[in-house]
Amino acid sequence: MAELNLILLGPPGAGKGTQAERITEDFNLPYIATGNILRAAVAEGTELGLKAKGYMDAGALVPDEVIIGVILDRLQESDAQDGFLLDGFPRTVPQAEALGAELKELGRELTAVLLIDVSDDEVVRRLSGRRVSAKTGRVYHVEFDPPKREGVCDVDGSRLIQRDDDKPETIRNRLSVYHESTEPLVGYYTEEGVLRRFDGERPPAEVHDHIRAQIATLRLEDRL
Ligand code: ADP
Ligand code: AMP
Repeated sequence: MAELNLILLGPPGAGKGTQAERITEDFNLPYIATGNILRAAVAEGTELGLKAKGYMDAGALVPDEVIIGVILDRLQESDAQDGFLLDGFPRTVPQAEALGAELKELGRELTAVLLIDVSDDEVVRRLSGRRVSAKTGRVYHVEFDPPKREGVCDVDGSRLIQRDDDKPETIRNRLSVYHESTEPLVGYYTEEGVLRRFDGERPPAEVHDHIRAQIATLRLEDRL
């Protein structure tokens, strides 16, 4: 069966993590989320974490030279050989170029870049109400997707926290960083013919249905 090499693109809070949980289950793909990798590194106090923390707290991007090698190495691991779902990478044109060069060298190609489109106002609403379990990574929203018991993860009962960078001033900074550094990737991947756009303002289940149908179609086309 053909590989599914997928990227989730969209502003912070678009619902990439929410959809990733469903897509990885549908298609049995390893989920590679740069934000999660970096937050784990910060929590463990590794060299990567020490380098990344200041940028993350400010809502800025970690420099390309710090992140590119980490993700390209991760793609070499055995679970990513038959496909992957990347979330949060690439976030700049140089990151996209580095990924493209690496895949080319390995004789692989991107299946699709899934753009989840959401307005800035909606991003602010979503990020200010986002709660996550630091243990399971499951994402909730106090209003749009509350846990069964307030403040507690449905999966294992762990405590839900608000991410440090989900504070109003940082959210605004992250949005402007997205528009300036990451949004150019929409044009970049449109030109490559792999961009697929989804209306991220629909309810999570609807966004998921659209994405799943699109991936199923791409798979079918590939087999014909
Ligand atoms: P991202 O990974 O793109 O930063 P998340 O998946 O963490 O975004 O979602 C951000 C917040 O928005 C979370 O609190 C999540 O529960 C909520 N959310 C995700 N998708 C939707 C949706 N389609 N409608 C309403 N809220 C959503
Ligand atoms: P996220 O969980 O995707 O919202 O990412 C949280 C933070 O991690 C971002 O605000 C950046 O500081 C950092 N980060 C995640 N992915 C990247 C990337 N590809 N390039 C640079 N910084 C990143």
